[in-house]
Amino acid sequence: MLRMSREQQAVARARNAFETGRSKPLEYRIHQLKNLQRLFTERQKEISDAIKKDLNKSEVGTQLYETLGLEGEISLAIRKLKDWAAPRPVEKNLLTISDTVYIQPEPLGVVLIIGAWNYPWAVTIQPLIGAIAAGNAAVIKPSEVCVHTAKVMETLLPIYIDKELYPVVTGGVPETQELLRQRFDHIFYTGNSMVGKVIMEAAAKNLTPVTLELGGKSPCYIDKNCDISIACRRIAWGKYTNCGQTCIAPDYILCEPSIQDRVIEEVKKSIKEFYTENPKTCADYGRIINQRHFKRIMNMLEDSTVAVGGDNDESDCYIAPTVLRDVKPEAKVMQEEIFGPLLPILSVSGLDEAIKFINKGEKPLALYVFSSDDKVIKRMRDETSSGGLLANDCLVHYSVSSLPFGGVGESTQGKYRNGNTNWSLFFTHWKQRDGLLPRQVQLRPAEPPAQLSHQTA
Ligand code: NAD
Repeated sequence: MLRMSREQQAVARARNAFETGRSKPLEYRIHQLKNLQRLFTERQKEISDAIKKDLNKSEVGTQLYETLGLEGEISLAIRKLKDWAAPRPVEKNLLTISDTVYIQPEPLGVVLIIGAWNYPWAVTIQPLIGAIAAGNAAVIKPSEVCVHTAKVMETLLPIYIDKELYPVVTGGVPETQELLRQRFDHIFYTGNSMVGKVIMEAAAKNLTPVTLELGGKSPCYIDKNCDISIACRRIAWGKYTNCGQTCIAPDYILCEPSIQDRVIEEVKKSIKEFYTENPKTCADYGRIINQRHFKRIMNMLEDSTVAVGGDNDESDCYIAPTVLRDVKPEAKVMQEEIFGPLLPILSVSGLDEAIKFINKGEKPLALYVFSSDDKVIKRMRDETSSGGLLANDCLVHYSVSSLPFGGVGESTQGKYRNGNTNWSLFFTHWKQRDGLLPRQVQLRPAEPPAQLSHQTA
């Protein structure tokens, strides 16, 4: 008899466990979610130490950008689960007027979650929370690129949650490909678009639905009539957090030539404020994940002019927070997602040209517009398309649990989070802690949210 591979065994065990029906009762799902919650409160140190080794993230950074958000998501799922799982009566017609007609959410079955390395806990556990809450079994494949974190995940998850229903399979490309040869009821992948296509092709063989959380270039437009100092401070935060290795990091700036020098000065000021004169010795400044990515990013610098930063150290995978001036659209840095701490500035004659430029590229995962003028924000919203649009801030939309997260076109297939809420236009104003620029978040519904449960009428 042929021996089953480790990956086949994990999937078979998860399916058997799912077929026992134990993942379905709400009490069991809540119990598993509470155990997951406990993992984050009890094992914070192991989690932080591993991420420090992988990405040089500080303990505070790990809490802020990885575990606190997950704990919030778990609490939300526990609180809302009963509502999400409840039957939803629908409108009846004359023929069915005396019948009971409703939508009953139910789990899909066994789902595969393939994580990426940049926020290794956030991007892997976030979909797991959804999978558990919806009553599925889930095979979890952490990114092999974060060596230490993958090991900690493999050790800790089976201690806290049902190891048959939610097995962790570690390994690299061959192991992932072996997993992809198995049959799943949903595949949730986070990573780059090229591999996204590989995942979709593998899923197509079994007509397995997919959620693909991919990347791309997320532009920033700075209108000359805004508080440039605040705009640059927020862009610098969004860009250099995790050393630029954030899927929704502002990728490049578009602005009029008349404000370029001011923008450079203000970003420089913020870099100094956040990471001191010498970011290399600052505990809050990260590192590039590995030498392959270090070389890829450094190669992008070749045909551009450095205005700030540029210094680097290959042996330490260090690249300073860097600003590039007068960048041409043909420059290397503009040909792919940067995913590193380089911030190119490109000149445009104004809003019209900025919109044209953005629309020439792939639809961005996030689009950032900085302006004090609502008309500018409205035009950017109405005349472009992107997964999310933020006015006067960066990244923060990811932290809003009630919003679905994802992109459109090349940047994503499907959305996640937001429980069973229907897609609806989201547009809000927030009062700012540092005043002046009211911030707005707008996510555009292009498709219904991908849920790890389906609905039967
Ligand atoms: P990665 O190298 O960790 O790869 C992701 C996963 O794909 C890993 O688990 C890996 O084992 C698997 N994989 C890699 N090559 C494969 C292959 N040939 N066949 C099958 N599986 C394979 O991560 P990455 O791709 O470098 O991640 C960075 C990208 O992810 C960026 O583009 C970023 O924007 C994007 N990202 C998107 C989101 C989002 O939510 N939209 C979040 C984080 C990162």
